[in-house]
Amino acid sequence: MSDLKPKFIYFDLDDTLLNHKKAEQNGLKDVHKHFEEFNDISLDSLIATYHTINKGLWEEYGRGEIDRHILHRRRFEETFIELGISAALYEEAGKVYMNYYRNHWEWISGAEEAFDRIRETYNVGIITNGFAETQWMKIKQFGFEEMVSQIVISEEIGVMKPHHKIFDHSTELVGIERSDILYVGDSLTSDVEGGKAAGWKVAWYTSNPDKKGRELADIVFNDFEELIDRIKA
Ligand SMILES: [Mg+2]
Repeated sequence: MSDLKPKFIYFDLDDTLLNHKKAEQNGLKDVHKHFEEFNDISLDSLIATYHTINKGLWEEYGRGEIDRHILHRRRFEETFIELGISAALYEEAGKVYMNYYRNHWEWISGAEEAFDRIRETYNVGIITNGFAETQWMKIKQFGFEEMVSQIVISEEIGVMKPHHKIFDHSTELVGIERSDILYVGDSLTSDVEGGKAAGWKVAWYTSNPDKKGRELADIVFNDFEELIDRIKA
């Protein structure tokens, strides 16, 4: 594989630059501790149940069947019902979770150093699926506004990755050839498939690449040092 020399690099935010999974896990741990109703229910059941329900709701949201208010309500309401806890607590749980979740945000290992290094050589931006309010809190907390020239958030565009509209919009923002844009992300469907369908180059951050992703992605890496090496940053 040859080295890439893109003219612009967009990064995904959650689980590429910032460790969303760990923050989510820790947020749920705090919710588990917060409610005495969980005394007889294991943390693992809470996490597993929440993940299953949240995943299904995000799919409904992605298809435009529900809005974010319904998603926010139902993810705890349905988790609590499934676990046999009073569903009336869902509102408090949602607030408690968000307060805790935001206290657990941190960089993915090695990403901060790599991102700083890459910004010295390349113009960079962020494209993220997520709710504007939450994603803006992250962006401000980490100072991304000062570090990147473009920020694209799915809720503000009205569609989520891998929808072509979000990639078309992001291409227009930088005004260069599609093949001169590199997208760095962790999701096979949202980032790798979405980016390639848009005519971009893609670097897939994964520790467990499957055949389809390996064939599609221009770069596959699980250590940010490898990415730096491949783009000569
Ligand atoms: Mg991601």
